[in-house]
Amino acid sequence: LKYGRYNNIARDFSDRHIDASKVESSENFHADYVIVGSGAGGATAAKALSDKGFSVLIVEAGGLNESEDFKLQEKQAYPEFYQDIASRKTADKAIKILQGKTVGGSTTVNWTSCFRTPEHTLNYWQKELGIKGFEKDTLLPFFEEAEKELNVSQWMVPANPNNEVLKSGCEHLGYHFSVIKRNVKGCANLGYCGLGCPLNAKQSMLVTYIPQALANGAKLISHLKVKKVQFEGSKVKALLCVAIDQNGKETTKTHNVTGKKFILSGGAINTPGLLLQSQAADPYLQTGKRTFLHVSAGSSALFEHEIRSDSGAPQSVYSNEFLYPEDGGMGFKLEVPPIHPVLAATTMNQIGTMHADFMSQLPYAQAMIALLRDGFHEQSQGGQVKLDKYGEPVLDYPMTDYVWKGVETAYIAMAEIQFAAGAKKVLPIHADTKACSTFAEAKSFIQSLPMMPNSATLFSAHVMGGCAFGVDPRSSVVDCDGRHHHYDNLYIFDASIFPTSIGANPQLSIYGIIKKLVANLI
Ligand SMILES: Cc1cc2nc3c(=O)[nH]c(=O)nc-3n(C[C@H](O)[C@H](O)[C@H](O)COP(=O)(O)OP(=O)(O)OC[C@H]3O[C@@H](n4cnc5c(N)ncnc54)[C@H](O)[C@@H]3O)c2cc1C
Ligand code: SF4
Repeated sequence: LKYGRYNNIARDFSDRHIDASKVESSENFHADYVIVGSGAGGATAAKALSDKGFSVLIVEAGGLNESEDFKLQEKQAYPEFYQDIASRKTADKAIKILQGKTVGGSTTVNWTSCFRTPEHTLNYWQKELGIKGFEKDTLLPFFEEAEKELNVSQWMVPANPNNEVLKSGCEHLGYHFSVIKRNVKGCANLGYCGLGCPLNAKQSMLVTYIPQALANGAKLISHLKVKKVQFEGSKVKALLCVAIDQNGKETTKTHNVTGKKFILSGGAINTPGLLLQSQAADPYLQTGKRTFLHVSAGSSALFEHEIRSDSGAPQSVYSNEFLYPEDGGMGFKLEVPPIHPVLAATTMNQIGTMHADFMSQLPYAQAMIALLRDGFHEQSQGGQVKLDKYGEPVLDYPMTDYVWKGVETAYIAMAEIQFAAGAKKVLPIHADTKACSTFAEAKSFIQSLPMMPNSATLFSAHVMGGCAFGVDPRSSVVDCDGRHHHYDNLYIFDASIFPTSIGANPQLSIYGIIKKLVANLI
């Protein structure tokens, strides 16, 4: 099916794409602008720079996987398209982290929800952090442009039953809810966005900005991982890279990449990780600090009718009822996740017959998630990216009483909404869960649950921060133009530059803000 102008990068741009796993000899690649990573940040920069006629080279560690490669199978998608074969976790293993590793980055596997950066967040950056140039009105034209280019529009199809529960529960309780905008064109409502869209309907970077940049003359090298940034004085000299084989393993084949300017867009965790691996100047120890997750807690519910949470647009309804609590507690946005069997089996922490019983009822199971808005309180300072004993980046994310209280409040809110929508049973997603039959029972059960790492099941698909932008080098890594405080030709253009979490699904914030930063750069 041809929904986009460019249907297949491998076929349409065979002369502009190199698969490093197939390159035999050691090469030296060069461009004016070298971009590390092809996700939301990297692809946006590549398109904007190549539009202006600059020579651009995108280096991507993942493989080039396109619509025909997407088999709608979890057993294929998680190992092939996700960081650490979808088993990335925080240092204490308490929070599961989903990030993409394929051309298009996380946008190739994301769930298509689009929100502009909330005004609350922009105001906080301005008033509390002294960051200028990111006011609502300044960003407006960049958001409008991205929305037009990526077909971000209201989802007019009725919500699937999974999302309908959130809508109906909120309706019954008089809580806020609304419809999510999605970046899709010709979407067949399949529900497999997280495994790669087989129809090119999702307007991810894979089918939009990357092919558009290639059409402008940019080059893409897939299966090439940057291992080290080499510095010479206050400049980046080159990138030391290693080829990745078809199975996603590092080879011994090395390549060199040189350029005039270098843009790191490897995503949060990987970008600060690369700077740490490269021993980049960091006099105030800011690299990797304040990494945010929208720490997410979940609640599952069983209904009498089929929910089939694997089918239909994964996210189409949200509620901001609890996003900005008046008591100063930790706010959270409510959404639902798609539930495919492997994701469900590995997320529901039960064991034995209880687990088997839940899995046998999967078609009747609904799930809700609360995305906690981290980074806006003294007890919510996010985590720190460090290097583990193998030299690989790992996120240490300490939970505080404040964040745990947010998790508990979120479990209660989700249970209330699920019962209001007609759930027969509600099971907070927690290692010690049980099936509760009434809201009163669920509430007192939740209040009795231990709130501790590896007990409450926590996850994140929204990693942000770690290379914050800011005016003061003592509390940030890059300036408000995205340029590294200590290197003249090094920029960071990805989710790692956010100085707090966004408080909404981040992809549109990345598109809009990176567009603005590129406009400043040229
Ligand atoms: C399952 C899932 C669902 C999501 N759903 C939504 C949603 O519905 N709405 C929303 O707004 N957001 C969603 N997100 C989040 C959103 O997609 C990300 O926030 C966004 O894509 C991050 O952009 P980025 O440029 O920072 O990094 P990414 O898009 O993750 O791209 C980084 C790329 O850099 C590559 N890379 C990293 N290190 C290197 C290196 N050393 N050398 C070469 N390449 C490297 C990686 O392989 C990766 O491809 C979701 C994410 C996931 C995983
Ligand atoms: S729901 Fe739409 S965008 Fe997602 S995989 Fe299916 S067709 Fe593609």
